[in-house]
Amino acid sequence: MKSFAITVLLLLSTGAIAQNNPETTFRQPYPLGEKLSSNPNFTGEAWLAPLSEQKELNVPMSNVTFEPGCRNSWHSHKAGQILIATAGIGYYQEKGQPARRLFPGDIVEIAPDVVHWHGAAPDSWFAHIAITTNPKVNVAVWLDPVSDSQYQEATAEAENRYTEANSILTAREQAIVAVASYTGKGDLEHLKPALAGALEAGMTINEINEVLIHAYAYCGFPRSLRAIQTFMQVVDERKANGINDVVGREVTEINDNRTRYERGRDILAEISGTSVDAPKAGYAIFAPAIERFLKEHLFADLFERDLLTYRERELATVSILAGVGGVEPMFRSHAAICLHLGITAEQLSTLLNIVEMNLGTSYSEPLRNILEQIVKQK
Ligand code: MN
Repeated sequence: MKSFAITVLLLLSTGAIAQNNPETTFRQPYPLGEKLSSNPNFTGEAWLAPLSEQKELNVPMSNVTFEPGCRNSWHSHKAGQILIATAGIGYYQEKGQPARRLFPGDIVEIAPDVVHWHGAAPDSWFAHIAITTNPKVNVAVWLDPVSDSQYQEATAEAENRYTEANSILTAREQAIVAVASYTGKGDLEHLKPALAGALEAGMTINEINEVLIHAYAYCGFPRSLRAIQTFMQVVDERKANGINDVVGREVTEINDNRTRYERGRDILAEISGTSVDAPKAGYAIFAPAIERFLKEHLFADLFERDLLTYRERELATVSILAGVGGVEPMFRSHAAICLHLGITAEQLSTLLNIVEMNLGTSYSEPLRNILEQIVKQK
């Protein structure tokens, strides 16, 4: 058992091995297929899996998987092409146009003879389905490779977005947003570098753990525990590379005579600016136990832990909710709490920019609409 653990650690500490095995590290809905070995039309490693078999249907489709940084050369299709992004984060660029960042579900329609390239983001695996349109008359025309500088310029958008955010959220706040949103989504591949980023931003191990512990109340123990396991890997790998991250102080002990319910009730009143006697929400009357758990577990047990401020907990909360998706009413309440705690609408908007860059517009847009509504009502 011990030697197995050591082998796993060794494999993990040499990132290259883990990265070159997309079969186990990259989750996607369609098969990986065969590696395109030494294909002159690709920079980096790519895999191809034909998805449709019946030729008489006339819709050839393949799943193409790109390792981080991999892209195909500039090319065009005589009779067009359709791409459907299926996993990871990628890019599509037409000659002379800004590149488009792609997330699962995005569709790219490429007109005949338009010169373009497609591939992965620099720091993410990517897969798309490529559909050959008008297959009887279609042929690809391959041109020059996309040079490193062309690729860098096209994909610098994410980096620039963080630079933009620097004047509005601190590095620590941005790190909390990235870690929390990936934790909520359960995207462990991208959570890993975000956790390393949080350490680089000066957060202690205990503070980052606190974000992941806080997450359990919003996305459940399984997501929270997977995130903590991922964080253990990150810390171990950094230790193996000679980086000793600061553990930091522990939580201050609580001495309070009130019941946990009363403490939670009072903290909620404080952060939301509502009265402790405010009428109970519908769910609290319909299912009283959940209301007690919210007050005792969440607003007392978690919020009383002083490794994060209330502001930081609320920034983490809206980010986790963004990653979970489909919980707009909870986002609405917590965005309002954020504003009450002095987090500005501009800061929340910047938070959503980070969510958009990391998870895509399908995660950010519904929340942007809610934020606009709240701000209008003020
Ligand atoms: Mn193409």
